[in-house]
Amino acid sequence: MTGARNGRQYLSDLRDGREVWLGSERIDVAEHPALAGSRSGMAGYFDWQHAHADECLMRDDASGALINASHLVPRTPEDLRRRARAFERLARYSMGALGRTPDYVNVTLAGFVGRPDIFGMNGDTRAVDALSRFQREVIERDLSLTHTIVHPVVDKALTDVEGINGEISLRVVGRNDHGIVVRGARVLATLGPFADELFVYPGQPLPKNADPAYALAFSIPMETKGLICLCRDHYGTDGATVDRPFSSRFDEQDAFVIFDDVEVPWERVFIDGDLKIYNAIMRSGWTGNVMQQTTIRAAVKLEFAYELATRMVAAQNAGARPDNQQMLGEIWCYASMARAALRAAEADAHDYGAGLFLCDDRPFRAIRSMMPRWMARVNEIVKLLGAHNLLATPEAAAFDTSLGDALRRYLPGAGDMPAEERAALFRTAWDFVGSALGGRNELYERFYLASAARTLALNHMLAQREREWNDVPEFIERSRS
Ligand SMILES: Cc1cc2nc3c(=O)[nH]c(=O)nc-3n(C[C@H](O)[C@H](O)[C@H](O)COP(=O)(O)OP(=O)(O)OC[C@H]3O[C@@H](n4cnc5c(N)ncnc54)[C@H](O)[C@@H]3O)c2cc1C
Repeated sequence: MTGARNGRQYLSDLRDGREVWLGSERIDVAEHPALAGSRSGMAGYFDWQHAHADECLMRDDASGALINASHLVPRTPEDLRRRARAFERLARYSMGALGRTPDYVNVTLAGFVGRPDIFGMNGDTRAVDALSRFQREVIERDLSLTHTIVHPVVDKALTDVEGINGEISLRVVGRNDHGIVVRGARVLATLGPFADELFVYPGQPLPKNADPAYALAFSIPMETKGLICLCRDHYGTDGATVDRPFSSRFDEQDAFVIFDDVEVPWERVFIDGDLKIYNAIMRSGWTGNVMQQTTIRAAVKLEFAYELATRMVAAQNAGARPDNQQMLGEIWCYASMARAALRAAEADAHDYGAGLFLCDDRPFRAIRSMMPRWMARVNEIVKLLGAHNLLATPEAAAFDTSLGDALRRYLPGAGDMPAEERAALFRTAWDFVGSALGGRNELYERFYLASAARTLALNHMLAQREREWNDVPEFIERSRS
């Protein structure tokens, strides 16, 4: 039993021969020089959990070891508050820039373990036991999980598993004594190359008449034979962290994933061809569960953006301009609405079944659709407020050269702000919103919880089902008399 790992342990576990491609090269993620910053950024997360053990870690009842608090299966309001403290501190490691820190998928796994009634609804308890044993392994080895939950839809006029879509989507192609054999692809595993395990589970329901071969949930180690990780271009940079505080450490690296006849052992198979379970699982509290973590991360990021933007305005002594005040006030609104949604969701938390106590998902459903716009707008505001300042920013080391005096003279901030401080501030802002990683992060915020287009339509569909507001006929009737 290892319990919560530190950065050194995390890095040594990366050496496992997994098949990762970057550009046209098969690479070793544990060694490739371009990934050095991201590797140490991820290792830093594991050290951070120990540095803030009071908030991030808890004592495991079964083993007595210290483990990440995101593994808690919440049964009470106190459980929700306990893990929220961990999410908050863990989000602060990257100020919300890392979307797929391991606590994210740990929360999903805990939510699944808390619903044996769903995973065992066909009367077979094999999957329920397998899930519990899998969580124990993740807890004890402090494995970092990523997930792929989206089918690679080529033709959007068809369902996810029809025609060409069905030919490339992940499905079962064989079964034997050891397990199932799967073939196909999934988008898009954030953290894929740096994770220990790939967790595959449903993102959207499948049509009732879909081929059950597509109804799958399982987890496999990244080094599993036949699993191919195809990285997008890497946006991590080398150089001093003060110059590029996000891209020097926090490119979490997304990857398209191909399963080339991969064997998944039975002990890691959680859904095998059961459409009823597959379609029930995302309606059994997933949003109310995982969005406690994602909303805390988003709130931390928005609060950071507000403070960053405010300091950028102060560095130009431009705080008296009404347009600047309005834009800063706008970011504050987004941050405060994120916090308000969180509080509302926690206040109305309830038992979703089997004693699993999770946040109310309605406030989360609302901000799930709005947050992508807020995040994109915040990035726009940072660019509008920063203007040329975002690009007239020497590296920290340039101040130690023969150019140093000229840089101090020509590039100070307003109000006696030293040039070094001004440069670090605007470089942080550019790396946050405008660098290659900043651009990718905006795309992440837009899509990682499905597109807003899809979730807005889903909100309407669910609201019609819940039918909470029904005053119009009564009001019209009353108006008649
Ligand atoms: C940086 C990044 C990281 C990601 N990480 C992960 C991950 O770790 N794991 C994972 O499983 N997935 C991940 N994803 C994938 C993500 O889940 C999908 O991108 C997401 O579900 C959206 O699917 P899509 O890209 O096919 O876009 P769509 O949902 O098809 O949306 C694309 C556009 O099509 C239009 N559109 C779509 N549907 C409708 C509609 N019904 N009505 C009107 N217009 C519509 C909208 O304009 C929308 O913006 C990631 C994506 C990104 C960008």
